[in-house]
Amino acid sequence: MSKSLYVVADLRNGALRQVFSEAIHAAQQASGDGDTVSAILIGSGITGLASQAAKYGLDKVYVVDHPELKDYRPQAYLTAIKSVVGDSVPDGIFFGHTAIGRDLAPLAAAYWNGGAITDVIALENDGSGNIVFTRPIYAGKAFEKKVFNSGPWFVTLRPNNIPAIAADASKQAELVEVDYAAPSLRVIVKEVVKKASGKIDLSEAKVVISGGRGVKSVDGFKPLEELAEVLGGAVGASRGACDAGYCDYALQIGQTGKVVTPEIYIACGISGAIQHLAGMSGSRVIIAINKDPEAPIFKVADYGIVGDLFEVVPLLKEEFSKI
Ligand code: FAD
Repeated sequence: MSKSLYVVADLRNGALRQVFSEAIHAAQQASGDGDTVSAILIGSGITGLASQAAKYGLDKVYVVDHPELKDYRPQAYLTAIKSVVGDSVPDGIFFGHTAIGRDLAPLAAAYWNGGAITDVIALENDGSGNIVFTRPIYAGKAFEKKVFNSGPWFVTLRPNNIPAIAADASKQAELVEVDYAAPSLRVIVKEVVKKASGKIDLSEAKVVISGGRGVKSVDGFKPLEELAEVLGGAVGASRGACDAGYCDYALQIGQTGKVVTPEIYIACGISGAIQHLAGMSGSRVIIAINKDPEAPIFKVADYGIVGDLFEVVPLLKEEFSKI
């Protein structure tokens, strides 16, 4: 029987996040002949984004546009998905493993009495029609392979792991505007106070320059910020640096911080505690700069530089500026 798969779009600052096109790719990999893959866009004033989403080789793009959907509210967003799906039960819904997806996927799974596989980094067809989902466990020390015994499926995908699908101007999915009957919300968001953050989203950055306690002060992050600027990357941190007050906790990477999987991760003055590795060991290339040659970070690093970060980082910046 053919399946109806959906991908819930992740939006930030009025734009589609890259994890959305990665989730579309995953849903398309999970689909077979005769299956449909459609997107669900939820927000306020988002009709302009629908035409962008329509270029990803989808069957349909459903748009649920309502002032009440401006900010994420679980009950409202679930209602929006229900407005798209109607009385039927979806076969599968894919989400980004983001703040919204991590909250909404289990909520939807509970509502439709389905199974959830979260934080997926890869998926493959095992040849007998089963889709096998891979997710890291034990802070990235092992990987678990899971299949759904029965539907409906609810899946969240860790950003930066599944290749993003490229927009193709020749493709045009059918756009469907969906009526939204605002429920009476039990919880109302009165205000969202945003912290100042870097230009590039840490969890989706291709290059991350992270500082640890070795950075020694707030000012010690400046050379890292300058290198990030040259490389078009984002700045992250260890908990050691956050606890010491050198930077905001929003930058923390690790078991109790953000998980990042950039193409290049540069750890500066970070010892490489297991809790830190949990957040970055999936990076494609890891470069460690540490003045202690015995620092555990060198065990996971592809390239190690034993030296003072205050000498090495400016040199890297100088060299990369020439490219
Ligand atoms: P340190 O371990 O103090 O290392 C500093 C490093 O800088 C040293 O290796 C030193 O040689 C080097 N250095 C010093 N000066 C220089 C210099 N000038 N140039 C080059 N190198 C220099 N940690 C996280 O990062 N993320 C988490 O999410 C996290 N969650 C945790 C959860 C729990 C439950 C617990 C118990 C701990 C958690 N931690 C986490 C903390 C973790 O165990 C470590 O304490 C922390 O990662 C250490 O941070 P650090 O590497 O910056 O500091």
